[in-house]
Amino acid sequence: MNLDALRADIDGIRIEDHPAIVRQKSRDFYWYSPVLKQRLDHVVGDLVVSPANEEELIRVLRACYRHGVPVTPRGSGTGNYGQAMPLSGGVVLSLAEMSDIRQILPGRVVCGPGAILADIDRATRADSGQEMRMHPSTYNTATIGGFIAGGSGGVGSIRWGGLRGLGNVLRLRVVTMEEEPRILELTGEDLHKVTHAYGTNGIISEVEIPLTAAYEWVDVIVAFDDFMDGARFANALAREDGILTKLATVVAAPAPHDYFKRHQKFLAAGDNVVIVMVAAHALGPFLTFAAQYDGRTVFNAAQMSAEELKGIPPAFELTWNHTTLRGLRVDPNITYLQVHYPFPRHLELVETLNRRFEGEVIGHLEFIRFDGNVICSGLPLVRFTTEQRLDEIIAAFEETGAPIFNPHRYTLEEGGMKQTNAAQLEFKRQTDPRGLLNPGKMVAWDDPGYDLNSGRLWLFKGLQKAG
Ligand SMILES: Cc1cc2nc3c(=O)[nH]c(=O)nc-3n(C[C@H](O)[C@H](O)[C@H](O)COP(=O)(O)OP(=O)(O)OC[C@H]3O[C@@H](n4cnc5c(N)ncnc54)[C@H](O)[C@@H]3O)c2cc1C
Repeated sequence: MNLDALRADIDGIRIEDHPAIVRQKSRDFYWYSPVLKQRLDHVVGDLVVSPANEEELIRVLRACYRHGVPVTPRGSGTGNYGQAMPLSGGVVLSLAEMSDIRQILPGRVVCGPGAILADIDRATRADSGQEMRMHPSTYNTATIGGFIAGGSGGVGSIRWGGLRGLGNVLRLRVVTMEEEPRILELTGEDLHKVTHAYGTNGIISEVEIPLTAAYEWVDVIVAFDDFMDGARFANALAREDGILTKLATVVAAPAPHDYFKRHQKFLAAGDNVVIVMVAAHALGPFLTFAAQYDGRTVFNAAQMSAEELKGIPPAFELTWNHTTLRGLRVDPNITYLQVHYPFPRHLELVETLNRRFEGEVIGHLEFIRFDGNVICSGLPLVRFTTEQRLDEIIAAFEETGAPIFNPHRYTLEEGGMKQTNAAQLEFKRQTDPRGLLNPGKMVAWDDPGYDLNSGRLWLFKGLQKAG
């Protein structure tokens, strides 16, 4: 790794090497996991490089290839599993400057990878009353490139499913890490080579995603005495064909009252809540629907003045991994899991596991479409004690039939399906022959024989040594 030669080759391109800045931009939200915090706290890059456009991006990748410098792409660094952390040092490649919105067309938008999600919606709403189908709850900070390379779904998935669904990403322009970097245009099945690949096999330099009609969305919170009553309500709501919603999240007591500080005045200690975003034109039908259930509508933004809403965060910032963030702010021993509750047993599985781990695991469900069915995925909060106990809980969920996408792992496979993604691996062989893109995040590249079902945490040999 020859950093001086690299600097000379990319003269004129923005570089940051102040240790405090480099350290800050070498970290994401990995600290949600006590397992990752213990293993990655010391990780730091050597330089932060910010190309302003695709031409500069190509210059950087060509020079890093020539001088053997690892490159870890970064959007805004809000990922949760150390995805944007440079395990072997080298260059942190910030795509934040490539944030331009290039084209807005009926039903789609084309933009740079560094575009912030909320900025995309602001532009498409103003232009033609359109908005993105889905976004993470880090809507105001995350980039579209980071969402596609590291995220999975979020607000809107109740209607459109996840990013993996065909049609939810239309086209990606990707630059390779080769002696002479190539520009590849990916569409259709080929998109899966790069979506949720953590930037291990190509740098996204342009994104084309679908748009849908934009509406005014109303935040509503319905409280239930019983968590499962809330879950059944949310499941039925998500299955209602005529009531347009963008979010239906269920969070178990005591989390809402104890962790949602700005909403606390609307909540009672034992409240289990269903957090809903409903289109303003569907609010009436929604309230009619809700009246058929035992819940209490404790928050309805449409009935509140601007003064009353002052300082109240948008409802989606109580959901997805913001729920964990709000828990961590109150109790540093909180951590979380990511659970898939498969159709059609999803509610039954939730009930079984919720009862089994009462007091230790706090229920948190996100209702989504998955392969055409309404199911729920979960980000339950866990009162962390030991790694061993965490692994026991994970094993119990899996044995019961609820697969875990383990957020306490930094590799694609261990955090995903616990199997090699052959298409992503093969694509890496073609696009990153020296293995310089985000090293240590694809077990199959470094350690093809490793048993991904051992349950142990795979240790990347190239991981920087602490101290
Ligand atoms: C409070 C909180 C709530 C969250 N809620 C959600 C949620 O609702 N849904 C969800 O899916 N995620 C969620 N996340 C995770 C994360 O915020 C999202 O995945 C987000 O979209 C990541 O965007 P980013 O710009 O911060 O990406 P980063 O964290 O910077 O990067 C994510 C991954 O993408 C790679 N990458 C970034 N840009 C590029 C590029 N141009 N080309 C190739 N690779 C690239 C990085 O190397 C890294 O592997 C949440 C995280 C937090 C902390």
